[in-house]
Amino acid sequence: MKETSPLNLYKQLPQTNCQKCGETTCMAFASGLIARSKKIEECPPLVEEKKYAKKLAALKSIIAPELKMVYIGVGDKQLKVGGEDVMYRHQMTFFNKPPFAYDVTDNMEEAKLVERVKKVSTWKKFYIGKWERVEMIAVRSVTDDPAKFAACVKKVMENTDYPLILCSFNPAVLKAGLEVAGKARPLIYAANKDNWKEVAQLANDYKVPVTLSVPFDLDGLKSMAVTFAEMGLTDLILDPGTAPNGKMLQQTLLNFINLRRAAVEEAQRDIAYPVIALPINAWMTTDDPVRAAYWESVLTAAFTIRGAAIMVKHSVEAHSMMPDMHLRFNIYTDPRTPVQVKPGLYKVGNPGAESPVFVTTNFALTYYTVESDIASNGIDAYILSINTDGIGVQASVAGGQLTPVKIKDSMDETGFDWAGQKSAGLVLPGMAAKFSGELEDLFAGKAKIMVGPEDSGRISDWMKSFWPPK
Ligand code: SF4
Repeated sequence: MKETSPLNLYKQLPQTNCQKCGETTCMAFASGLIARSKKIEECPPLVEEKKYAKKLAALKSIIAPELKMVYIGVGDKQLKVGGEDVMYRHQMTFFNKPPFAYDVTDNMEEAKLVERVKKVSTWKKFYIGKWERVEMIAVRSVTDDPAKFAACVKKVMENTDYPLILCSFNPAVLKAGLEVAGKARPLIYAANKDNWKEVAQLANDYKVPVTLSVPFDLDGLKSMAVTFAEMGLTDLILDPGTAPNGKMLQQTLLNFINLRRAAVEEAQRDIAYPVIALPINAWMTTDDPVRAAYWESVLTAAFTIRGAAIMVKHSVEAHSMMPDMHLRFNIYTDPRTPVQVKPGLYKVGNPGAESPVFVTTNFALTYYTVESDIASNGIDAYILSINTDGIGVQASVAGGQLTPVKIKDSMDETGFDWAGQKSAGLVLPGMAAKFSGELEDLFAGKAKIMVGPEDSGRISDWMKSFWPPK
């Protein structure tokens, strides 16, 4: 695991506390480097003054991630792949969620190709306060025809600015694709034992990242990675093979674990590159599209947990995409900081003088669940989100982050006009029912304190029985 002490990084900084980085001290900047909220380049003295050259080099070496970070694409859609420091999420956090690349093929009818590219590029889902999206498109050559592949890549690029993976084992086909897309820094897939010299030449000529494919032979994969590195090619993605089922699937997962371990626990620099998984291979196991999509989703979940840095997928059905997106979102949140919303008073629908105020915490999952349960039932209401450092209701009631006085102070800070309410009711979450007595005293003459359901999914029924307050 990477050294994470701010003191260690501080030793390599100028230690003048000049504040040019926007931090009040060099130590705060060191902490920012560890959290990756700051970059070395944001310390001008360190980068610009020659006397710090040694420190700069040492700092770069200390903070370089254990697993190499590879950039794919250009501009604001550029992706960072890899760049992780730990084996398991709970040891610190994972930083760069694995991009999902959905495939298109060079034998598709133009209208269907364009439709699929647009669907993939515009797909999005709002989940716990953030939009989840697809990040890439994998253009696969099934015709093995350079001209057809080039035409397909061109058509894809006319309809999306998403980063691409160009997929073929035929160097002539890859070259044709690179002629069209080379400047957009696509990932090429892949060099194997037969074509590696030509593909290495392409990666060098077009300055693009390249995948090394040596299925189920980690020694062979390492040997190829060393060869490419000796040629000056280090923007590498490793493909150790993805078996979609059976005993070889177990071997596949073991290979993923062993590659990550070699990189982050054993510091084997020769093989410390991001790894690609191909859940799309589930489609080779069955002709039933529902079964294939289901199994693709299962594989995606397994590889998300086992450290795949990038994945190629096929099913664009909601029942396959949604679980994949949700799992990835949760694995790639920072376990040190619960996902939070800004504390304050929020409106749902068009609340007015006869609308309730529901109390909840600023833990994003809780907040958005309550909001969704209110909005989906067409209820106009206010939600008071209280700062509990992102802790949910039950734990914050037990831990003291949610108290009657805090609820009162948070409500007062919003400047809410209780006098203007015809139905003045503050609704506590059921799990905070024990606060009701104290709150009745604190809100006396302003609002009636009501105890809502423990499960926000029952708010609609609760409204029918208890609202407005008598
Ligand atoms: S700019 Fe550099 S030297 Fe100045 S406070 Fe920040 S880290 Fe320290």
